[in-house]
This record gives sequence, structure tokens and C-alpha cells, in this order.
Amino acid sequence: MKKAVCLLSGGLDSATCLALARRDGYVCYALSFDYGQRHRVELDAAARVATSLGAERHLVAHIGLNAFGGSALTADLAVPKARSLDAISHGIPVTYVPARNTIFLSFALAWAEVLESSDIFIGVNALDYSGYPDCRPEFIEAYERMANLATKAGVEGRTRVHIHTPLIQLSKAQIVKLAAELGVPFGVTHSCYDPGPDGRPCGQCDSCLLRRKGFEEAGIEDR
Ligand code: ZN
Repeated sequence: MKKAVCLLSGGLDSATCLALARRDGYVCYALSFDYGQRHRVELDAAARVATSLGAERHLVAHIGLNAFGGSALTADLAVPKARSLDAISHGIPVTYVPARNTIFLSFALAWAEVLESSDIFIGVNALDYSGYPDCRPEFIEAYERMANLATKAGVEGRTRVHIHTPLIQLSKAQIVKLAAELGVPFGVTHSCYDPGPDGRPCGQCDSCLLRRKGFEEAGIEDR
């Protein structure tokens, strides 16, 4: 049985990525992070998604990136609301968390080495999304090269790490359709950056707006 470490935020993209890994026959070890994010409610969603999609294990690593701040997700900075899709698609927004995917992938790499797994899944998306630098194909390719230099298993030739990014060139609408085909439980996923005290999405942050656009374009109801 092939093992894979799957990064799981609790959002739609990472849930779809986990479902793809399961469909492709991987035994999945889901990894989430409590990094001091304002939308910690996503961790409850991640736990439900992991159970629902049959992850072998689900771990939450505690890494307080809010000690550094520097992002609207980890510091007392306002989350941008009601931006136009044109504005969302230009520049790197204040919701960018410094070095987040580099850090997340490093934790995934460590767990993969212990599990003797060569496969890491991450649901990054470079197309229909805010312009985060650590979601781009060139970042992933460079990270994969580094990963194979960085580990004992890599140097000894026991594993050749592959970072799977099956969603990287898909539009949000394509991801929604794929998720529907794979039976991703939309209702338990959480996308909002700035949910209310009851965990309900704000409907106005970039993540909420992109999610709505994706469902509308896919012609599927977001339950
Ligand atoms: Zn929102």
C-alpha cells in the first residue's frame, strides 16, 4: 500500500486533493496546522473532512506563526473584504502568510520520511486564486528538488520525494466539479478567512468570493 502525506486545511481545495489521493489508491496521512490563524475553525472542518474521506490518520501540528504576525490571518490586521475579482487576481494580498507553504511542506516532508512515504499532496492552485508566491509551479519544483537533497531517505536512495499538486492548473469551477465527482462533502469544508463567532463564513473575503464564483461557474449549489 502506498502511503501519502496530505496537507489538509479543511478548505475545499485540500479536501479535493485528499479525495484524489484516496481515489488513486494512497493510504493518506492528513496533516493540518494550528498556526495561530484567525480562522482556527477550519481545523474542525479538517478533522471532519479527514474522517469523511477515510484518512488513515489526521494530525494537527501546533506552530504559532502568530508570534511573527505579518499577515491578516495571523496578526491584528483587517482581512480585505468585497474586493473585485480583478483586484483579487493582481498582487500579493495581506492574507499571504510569510513562508507558510515552505513551512507546511517541511513538516509534511518530515512525516513522510518517518512513514517511508515518497508522496506528498498539497492542494495549491496557481490559476483562479490570489497570487501567493508559494502556490506557483516553480516554487513546488524547487521545493521538490530541495526535498530530495534534504532527507536521509533521499540521500540513501530509498525514496524519491514527489510533491503532487493535482489542482495547480485548475480553475475554481473545475475544482468544484472534480470535488462533486469525488464525493467531497462540501458542507463540512471551510474556506472563509474571517468567520463570525459562530464559525459562519463572512461571504466577503477573497476566499469566500472565489469559492462562490467557483460554485456559480460550475453550476453546483454550495450546501
Ligand atoms: Zn470569508
